Amino acid sequence: MLRSIKRLIAITDSSCSNGARRYSAAASRASSVGFIGLGNMGFHMASNLLKAGFPLIVHDVSEAPMQKLVEQGARAARSPAEIAAAAASVITMLPSSPHVESVYGGASGLLSTASKGTLFIDTSTIDPTVARRVASEVSRVTLDTGMLDAPVSGGVNGAAGATLTFMVGGDASSLARGRPLLEAMGKKIVHCGASGSGQVAKVCNNLVLGISMIGVSEAMNLGVQLGIDPKMLAEIFNTSSARCWSSDTYNPVPGVMPNVPASRDYEGGFGVDLMAKDLGLAVAAANSAKAPLPLGGVALQLYNLMSRHNYGKKDFASVYKFLNDGATTTPTPK
Ligand code: NAD
Repeated sequence: MLRSIKRLIAITDSSCSNGARRYSAAASRASSVGFIGLGNMGFHMASNLLKAGFPLIVHDVSEAPMQKLVEQGARAARSPAEIAAAAASVITMLPSSPHVESVYGGASGLLSTASKGTLFIDTSTIDPTVARRVASEVSRVTLDTGMLDAPVSGGVNGAAGATLTFMVGGDASSLARGRPLLEAMGKKIVHCGASGSGQVAKVCNNLVLGISMIGVSEAMNLGVQLGIDPKMLAEIFNTSSARCWSSDTYNPVPGVMPNVPASRDYEGGFGVDLMAKDLGLAVAAANSAKAPLPLGGVALQLYNLMSRHNYGKKDFASVYKFLNDGATTTPTPK
């Protein structure tokens, strides 16, 4: 159906009189989707929207991923303002709160050209209070449309395979409008509540993830140092009470699983700096709620330390490598 709409727009664009061309430009804006932030996650998500037949206009400060998507059929834009002028729905997938604030509110930001009714979906992981503030600025411009915060879980493989989970904050009618887009990029969409609540759910999820990755890495490293085969140890974990996502889907030991960052020198996954950012959000939220976070606080310090040792851009599973860096001998079990 969407592919047919796209084809129809292309046909009217190439064969109609001037009046009809104006009509088709409006039709094109109505069906066009903008996407900003084409990194490890956003590139695959944008690519899946194209595969589902959505006419896509993309922007990133880096040229290379834009070019690759243009080769797949997208149109490139020079600024967020150009995106908002050309699309009725816009998705953003940016590193952190300051990036989101500048892409929406900056001089050539989305809000400088957004019009009434445009739907904005931010899938980045950011501070829930910033998400609420940006959403209220958006609704002043778009009037009858809200904004969705829709951070994701599932990692780069989930983004590539369109199997992400979206944790959505915002009003139900905006979600109904955005649902076809989210369905093209993921398989589970959970409405968590009002604006900002998707971010709250995501921050809590990543608090567990940051801690569990350290736990799995510590234990795998201990087993390896004591002479156990890591594949066998992972198999034990995955059929026992140690089983978790960090162990059975994203194991941190090189060679235990194919197609995970650990088996490609921790490249192309979820960066240590991004995990530290998420744990920082959790600690800040916990401070304001007076909720104790003893393990989260320690986990944040460990990822910050890794960052100081040049692990910032490596996948966060490299905590395994960081823990055993320099270990050259395997002690014999007593
Ligand atoms: P990334 O650093 O790989 O990608 C971010 C992209 O945003 C880059 O291409 C960068 O050039 C672009 N960008 C930055 N500032 C910009 C600007 N002003 N205008 C246009 N483009 C800009 O990050 P990622 O791994 O794709 O993660 C993105 C978000 O998703 C983060 O908030 C992260 O916490 C979250 N997340 C990541 C994963 C993962 O596994 N990587 C999983 C779940 C959630």
